[in-house]
Amino acid sequence: MAIDFTLPPDVEEVRQRVRAFIDGEVAPVERELQGAPREEWVRAIGRLRQRAREVGLWNPHLPPEWGGMGLRPVAMAFVQAEAARAGIGPFVLNCQAPDEPNMQTLLHWGTDEQKEKYLRPLAEGRIRSCFAMTEPEVAGSDPTLIQTRAVQEGDYWVLNGHKWFASGAKGAAFAVVIACTDPDADPPQARNSAFIVDIPTEGWELVRTIGTMAGEGNHGEIYLRNVRVPAGNMLGPRGHGHLLGQFRLGHGRLAHCMRWIGQAELALEMMVDRALKRYAHGSYLHEKQAIRWMIAESAMEIYTGKLMVLHAAYKIEQGLPFRQEVAMAKVHVANTLWRVIDRAIQVHGALGYSTDTPLERMMRHARAARLADGADEVHMDFIARHVIDAYREKGAVKSALGDLL
Ligand SMILES: Cc1cc2nc3c(=O)[nH]c(=O)nc-3n(C[C@H](O)[C@H](O)[C@H](O)COP(=O)(O)OP(=O)(O)OC[C@H]3O[C@@H](n4cnc5c(N)ncnc54)[C@H](O)[C@@H]3O)c2cc1C
Repeated sequence: MAIDFTLPPDVEEVRQRVRAFIDGEVAPVERELQGAPREEWVRAIGRLRQRAREVGLWNPHLPPEWGGMGLRPVAMAFVQAEAARAGIGPFVLNCQAPDEPNMQTLLHWGTDEQKEKYLRPLAEGRIRSCFAMTEPEVAGSDPTLIQTRAVQEGDYWVLNGHKWFASGAKGAAFAVVIACTDPDADPPQARNSAFIVDIPTEGWELVRTIGTMAGEGNHGEIYLRNVRVPAGNMLGPRGHGHLLGQFRLGHGRLAHCMRWIGQAELALEMMVDRALKRYAHGSYLHEKQAIRWMIAESAMEIYTGKLMVLHAAYKIEQGLPFRQEVAMAKVHVANTLWRVIDRAIQVHGALGYSTDTPLERMMRHARAARLADGADEVHMDFIARHVIDAYREKGAVKSALGDLL
């Protein structure tokens, strides 16, 4: 069977529309707003979100009955990559983390009441949300260590614990909190359950937003002290917190990869643009082999990343096992992003190191890609395990390499 790499006309049409909207309306506003006070950003983004609704690009990831465009994972790969050409692009379309994976999670795991109460206002862009799993005291890489406890008391669960790096916590109307309900469960992955916690709620204390190398990105540190959550706010079945996290991150990781590809491509365009215009030692930079190598390496890495992301999206769309492909795409694209931005800075010389271009900001943000949604080493361990298992079971590794060729 031939593999058809042409985009279906409807997907290409959406991709073009998102590019035109982001490049034509969103990116210019973002450039103008650099250094502007927060209120100006809020007003401008509000106007752009309204424009996204008017031009039919609102909620690309949600089905029409939830006010969305009904795009499936492959089409979403293109939309996210185009949207990420502006930092605020995904938020303008209402498909930003952590709300987008929270919406997917509610859609898949929520009861009708939970969907109406939490998904509806998220989809309408009236509220924001956050996801609180990681804790400062124990390794976030191993959720079986989670210490936040949820104990049932009548019709309520009482939550006590300490979370941090809950992105978007300040201003969120609710949090999806992962807590241990069954400390003796076997396997240990069945210890945790997920809860929807309304904010504000008595006992929920946002201590601070954590300063990071990319500035204060609204990653919240939170204490939960006797937070009472109605039993009906458990999200998914008891003991399924780990599975729910995996489901959420499966989608979320890939959506991140798509946005990182958009950013990496932008950095490569900046690299080429500079190389075409800068002259030194008798020729333009783009004529020098050292610079051409950087351009070629970046192109190959981004191209590989695109194929990996599209294949993983295809597997999700077809209902096939996808975790191995998503893990490989996540590590590859996160590192590609870092390397391409680094090369773009190199080609820009001192200008690249300055704050006069977006590159330094892009680089500071890119560093988180190798940690958030699972550190590189954890994914690499997972990937290697599947390769080794495949060889042990079948005497061949093909099935762990995307099952291609
Ligand atoms: C920008 C950003 C946003 C985030 N947003 C959220 C959010 O919204 N909600 C949330 O709950 N969390 C969030 N996190 C937390 C993130 O999920 C965790 O940082 C991540 O899971 C790693 O956990 P940790 O930081 O505790 O590192 P640890 O688990 O302590 O790991 C530290 C290092 O140990 C190494 N390591 C760990 N395990 C292994 C292994 N098996 N083999 C080899 N090496 C290993 C790796 O090098 C790893 O980087 C965010 C983090 C960042 C940086």
